[in-house]
Amino acid sequence: MKIRFWGTRGSIAVPGPETVIFGGNTTCVEVTTDSGQNAIIDAGTGIRILGDSLLKRSEIKSVHLFMTHIHWDHLIGLPFFGPLFHQDFHVVVNGCRRCFEGLKRVFSSDYVDGTWPVCFRDLKAKIEPPSESPTGTITLGDVVVEQHRLQHPQGGLGFKFIEDGKKFVFLTDNELTEEGWQGTCFKDFVEFCSEADVLVHDCQYLPEELVTRRGWGHSDTRSVAKLAVETGAKELILFHHDPWRTDEGVHKIVDRCGEELDRMNAWITVYAAREGSTITL
Ligand SMILES: [Zn+2]
Ligand SMILES: [Zn+2]
Repeated sequence: MKIRFWGTRGSIAVPGPETVIFGGNTTCVEVTTDSGQNAIIDAGTGIRILGDSLLKRSEIKSVHLFMTHIHWDHLIGLPFFGPLFHQDFHVVVNGCRRCFEGLKRVFSSDYVDGTWPVCFRDLKAKIEPPSESPTGTITLGDVVVEQHRLQHPQGGLGFKFIEDGKKFVFLTDNELTEEGWQGTCFKDFVEFCSEADVLVHDCQYLPEELVTRRGWGHSDTRSVAKLAVETGAKELILFHHDPWRTDEGVHKIVDRCGEELDRMNAWITVYAAREGSTITL
């Protein structure tokens, strides 16, 4: 499978000279399976350009949208996703039912004062709601996608794509704590991420920054390094860069995570997700 980052930023889009290396668009990741199925994780501002790219690829008329949750930074690009306005496009939305209802509200002109001028019913694409239970397994051809609840305010889902024995795990907006949240604890994530070939995880903060941000649903370099070591991950990619983190600051996050891995005598490749980059698994 191929994994491409269209948006790597958390919280709010931050274009500008200080974010040109790692990117300023919010969460959007494209997964293309070996059999040609197309999956998109989250609809942050990065999905706008992905939509343009899909419309140019005439062989793709169907996409699976996996929503981690519907906080603004993961949803705000959806009204600009071009395929929604094409009647020959089929969009299957995965995630939880509640999330789908929230997603529709973005287009609701009668919700409060109205948040967007185009109504959901006026979108031309065929849009299919989630049919699986929140923790159920989804199949995309030969690819199995497993889901795991996140430790995040209002909840959410993380995803694991397994194809031909290769594992890609995507967990953003997830606060790793020993004691856990709502029945989920650190060892549950260790099990879910077990022997990931690529582990992408939220790493918005340094340990000293997290002290005043506990409960916000994000992780730091120390807890993420520990998870990578305990799961036996081969490659760790840091994600959901803080909007106030410049390119230089993201390099520092990677260095600090590397120091944590060194302290644990772990040989794991670590780097930060970069908008526009592709991984082949
Ligand atoms: Zn977020
Ligand atoms: Zn969030």
